[in-house]
Amino acid sequence: MSEHRIVLCPGSYDPVTYGHVDIIQRASGLFDEVVVGVVIGSTRKKYMFDPDARINFVREAVAHLDNVRVEGFNMLVTEFARQVGACTMMKGLRAISDFDYEFQMAQINKGLAPEIETVYLPASAKYSFLSSSGVREIAVWGGSVDDWVPANVVEAFRHMVGTYHEED
Ligand code: ADP
Repeated sequence: MSEHRIVLCPGSYDPVTYGHVDIIQRASGLFDEVVVGVVIGSTRKKYMFDPDARINFVREAVAHLDNVRVEGFNMLVTEFARQVGACTMMKGLRAISDFDYEFQMAQINKGLAPEIETVYLPASAKYSFLSSSGVREIAVWGGSVDDWVPANVVEAFRHMVGTYHEED
């Protein structure tokens, strides 16, 4: 079978962490092509970083992987998966706490697009407690996030926290 298999790794990436990069890198070894889909807007969340910043952070973090491209999307994730020709959506699972939500999403998405499978990779041990929200919380209070996010994100946080202080 010479089919070109494309996988979609969707998320908000607010901001990208090494936990995300780990999943994307593992996906790139399993599929011919990876599309990282960055949610532009959501009814569910407010974002710390604007879409262009979130997309650029991911692009720089995966620049070393030549079968990976990063795109923003503003539609149902299943529609976006169809649009890019993905046969699979791949996500990371950290703990039991991720499972409930992810299981619901997988069922909903299967109903919307039965031809697309959702596949989960277990988070690598060293990133299993790492989340974008945790990183945001640490960074806003001036803690170091150097071990968890790429240097461009560290720099953006530094700038943002500096701005908060200037506004005080
Ligand atoms: P978060 O849940 O941190 O806001 P996203 O919505 O950007 O992250 O998630 C995109 C995908 O990356 C999801 O499938 C999520 O489970 C996964 N993910 C997030 N952090 C990690 C991590 N540390 N290890 C493995 N997968 C992760």
